[in-house]
Amino acid sequence: MTKDELQQLVEKISLEAFQQPFVHQASFNRRLKSTGGRYHLTNHNLDFNPLIYERYGMDELVKVIKHELCHYHLHLAGRGYQHKDREFKELLQQTGGSRYSPPLANATIHHYCCRNCGKKIQRRRKIDTERYVCGGCHGQLLFVKTVKPSF
Ligand SMILES: [Zn+2]
Ligand SMILES: [Zn+2]
Repeated sequence: MTKDELQQLVEKISLEAFQQPFVHQASFNRRLKSTGGRYHLTNHNLDFNPLIYERYGMDELVKVIKHELCHYHLHLAGRGYQHKDREFKELLQQTGGSRYSPPLANATIHHYCCRNCGKKIQRRRKIDTERYVCGGCHGQLLFVKTVKPSF
């Protein structure tokens, strides 16, 4: 899918599901990593993770677009546009937007455990085990494995 096709799709969904035009820019952004989309409060543009379409297809992309358009239209109207706001939850349900983005392939997780108490720790980023200690007992951490979700 090209950027122009994405732009047209967002404009179409905006009119059909929200009865209001989308008058800013929609683009694909590969740096989004584990998120499906992002609404920029400052310039009102929308970014979408191309992996949503590549891995889950059109239906899932439409749901993620609706989610981001909920942020967009509510924010521009000066209403509750954050995940915790009732207006956001209601509009999301009304339009059929997704609540959560499906798991995306580049969400690699590093697993560690505490040498002392055995507590398991999972992080998106690598931990420096020489410097970082267990939050529970201050014991030393041991690297266990790195898991890259496969599709
Ligand atoms: Zn959101
Ligand atoms: Zn510990």
